[in-house]
Amino acid sequence: MSASTSAPARDRLRIAIQKSGRLADPARSLLAACGLSWRQSRDKLFCFGESLPVDLLLVRDDDIPGLIADGVCDLGVVGLNELDEQAKARRRIGLADAYQPLRGLGFGQCRLMIAVPDEWEWQGVQQLVGKRIATSYPAILAAWLKEKNVDAQVVELSGSVEIAPKLGTADLICDLVSSGATLAANQLRPVETLLDSEAVLAGPVHELDDARAGLMAMLLRRLDGLTRAQDRKLLMFSAEEAHVDELARLLPDAEPLLRLPGQGSAVRLQAMCNGALSWQRLEELERAGAQELMVLAVEKSLA
Ligand code: ATP
Ligand code: ZN
Repeated sequence: MSASTSAPARDRLRIAIQKSGRLADPARSLLAACGLSWRQSRDKLFCFGESLPVDLLLVRDDDIPGLIADGVCDLGVVGLNELDEQAKARRRIGLADAYQPLRGLGFGQCRLMIAVPDEWEWQGVQQLVGKRIATSYPAILAAWLKEKNVDAQVVELSGSVEIAPKLGTADLICDLVSSGATLAANQLRPVETLLDSEAVLAGPVHELDDARAGLMAMLLRRLDGLTRAQDRKLLMFSAEEAHVDELARLLPDAEPLLRLPGQGSAVRLQAMCNGALSWQRLEELERAGAQELMVLAVEKSLA
């Protein structure tokens, strides 16, 4: 029997997020936008869920995959970089997968990249043969080097990776890059991308089999609703019945037009459009007979 089925049934969902750092505030805001609220205890480790039985655990990001693996938490908001590193490290020592990314969350974007001293003329990955590469992501780097068939030395450092070449502890580095400013300040230049990362909602590999399963499904639905809403607009207008077919033809990306009774021979129409609605497109609709055009941003969307 697996750990998840033998564990006692729980009726509250527990989500681990970063206590402080780049992912802390966006993670909280996103979960709040999903309708969760907690008793205020910002400086504590644990926040009790008020609106729903969903509690927060505030931890270091590095601890999040392990907390899910151990069943201490059910979900976590963590960088794909961290999740992938720890997943690869587990596999290296023969452990089974214990967590997986469930949804990309659209923040915390960065790349795990190889960066070389400015003065190097980059000729490709074979240049890395025999070199010492400093990184906090030894498992991802080792897997990438293996895939590229490059024999290089991985120097594991827990922080300040970017100064390793200057200190002489490594020849080059493999580190997270977002703007590139830190690299530039250390006379380093990014040359290869190992991973495109963003914050993800991570969860267990096995489905939960108690009340938490329903809570998790609801949270995922709400998250998906927010993501979908970001790119949706509700278009409302009225038109003479004779123009409706032509107007529908001009809205191929819209979900079917909803017709409501209007005044006289006019009907009122609503359409949910995916993607941007340019001025040009709105003017085209107006020329085809749309009147009283109104575009509304969609904040949430369950369909
Ligand atoms: P903790 O105290 O929780 O261990 P940390 O120093 O490891 O904090 P942060 O620097 O806050 O963590 O980074 C958290 C995550 O933010 C990273 O794992 C990564 O997914 C993402 N991130 C986005 N841009 C960058 C960047 N330029 N450098 C580092 N991480 C970044
Ligand atoms: Zn960390």
